[in-house]
Amino acid sequence: MILRIFGHDFHYECENLCRVYFPNEKINIVYGDDGEDEKTVVTKCSPVDGGNLIEVEAHIDGVSKSEKAEVVASEDELRDKSELKTAQLIFALLSDITGYTPPWGVLTGVRPSKLMLRLTEQMGAEGAMEYFTRDLLVSEEKANLAQTVAAAEEKIVALSENNSFSLYVSIPFCPTRCSYCSFVSHSIANANARKLLPEYLEKLADEIKITGEIAKELGLKLESIYFGGGTPGVLEAPQMDRLLGAIEKSFDLSYLREYTVEVGRPDTVTPEKLRILKLHNVERISINPQTFNQKTLELIGRNHSVEQAVKSYQLAKAYGFDSINMDLIAGLPDETFEDFCSSVDTAISLSPENITVHTLALKRSSELNASGAGVSGGNEAKKMLEYASERLTASGYAPYYMYRQSKCVGNLENVGWCKVGKECLYNVFMMEECHTVLAVGAGGVTKLCNQETNNVERIFNYKYPYEYISGFDKISERKNGIKSFYLSY
Ligand code: SF4
Repeated sequence: MILRIFGHDFHYECENLCRVYFPNEKINIVYGDDGEDEKTVVTKCSPVDGGNLIEVEAHIDGVSKSEKAEVVASEDELRDKSELKTAQLIFALLSDITGYTPPWGVLTGVRPSKLMLRLTEQMGAEGAMEYFTRDLLVSEEKANLAQTVAAAEEKIVALSENNSFSLYVSIPFCPTRCSYCSFVSHSIANANARKLLPEYLEKLADEIKITGEIAKELGLKLESIYFGGGTPGVLEAPQMDRLLGAIEKSFDLSYLREYTVEVGRPDTVTPEKLRILKLHNVERISINPQTFNQKTLELIGRNHSVEQAVKSYQLAKAYGFDSINMDLIAGLPDETFEDFCSSVDTAISLSPENITVHTLALKRSSELNASGAGVSGGNEAKKMLEYASERLTASGYAPYYMYRQSKCVGNLENVGWCKVGKECLYNVFMMEECHTVLAVGAGGVTKLCNQETNNVERIFNYKYPYEYISGFDKISERKNGIKSFYLSY
């Protein structure tokens, strides 16, 4: 696809918006008249008396439409208002031509609730709602969702203090690779990956020790721990025991509000692992079916059955876990609206404390994207999320955290729903960047946050387990950045 730009510098916003309609197209930005394509969007911004004239043309697969509008504004506001008007015109034309009206309007950012919160502080709840619906063209339903989530997040953010932090432990290994996955995660079905795991865990324990020493030296308070991946459930019970033990030895857990292990795949759950998790006071776990449709599970390369997902959940309940999350995904390949609704109904019938409803994101590095298999379109995915929202609300769940990813089908969202008092604090702490997250393990990104100045700095670990092992000295050296950050204010 070609995006032509005349007379302005807001190509970034225009490109993001075009991607909402054509997520799999490569978008070439052209300044001027060069290039022809079956899909071309032309945007022009020219000065007129007191403002700018915005003109947009869309030529999509033989259909051509255009719109124009004048923007009158003070010098300070002219650029932003011209950018917004250009986005609104692109939205009008592409929604009309494609027959899909994205419910998030021209909003392409990943944290709509954070924006809602900021606008509410600036212009009050009513003003923020009006800005979302009138200017950003967000549907009333999604604007309400953003407002509900913003209110829930605000309460959790308030728990965080300037010296509090969370610990993220990365286990980038899985039993097999899901076809839609774009994470760096190794399938332990592969012998080489399996061989790496013990050494990886040794280095991880070393990093936990180093990080714990730094946290103690700086007087930081550990508020939440989150094991993610990957599939932390791939660890054998003794490996889990050692790792959880290393955390206990290295950190002061007396301030801990929450301890989560995203076990992940249902086929990794065993009585022994659940016993070990309980023994180490892990209270929240995630058992993720993604769908309760057997055909889809096979199609997306998850080697577990629907029955296993139900049994693992029941086993965890029998072990006394009273904070269990289940992930579902809307828009999986070859799933109909009815298939998705049936998964939502099954999840609700099991009554886990949390249900997170994701929308499929088709990242370039996933196998599914390469094969181009039939994932749901935007309108279908939109209906799926509407169904989930109605059923979950009627069943006593409320949305408490939300984020969006680029390339989500229909530019839709991922929402964490929970029963009263069962919010996952870590999800909000991490998403809202309200306190520091010290990450350990391959692919971990430490986010250092200064609440007073809103300054955020990041320290990256190596992405792949083999690099993490061989470059461990470098990683432990980078950890000094945590001290420099805190000692500089
Ligand atoms: S379980 Fe998660 S991390 Fe592992 S392959 Fe599937 S999507 Fe990727």
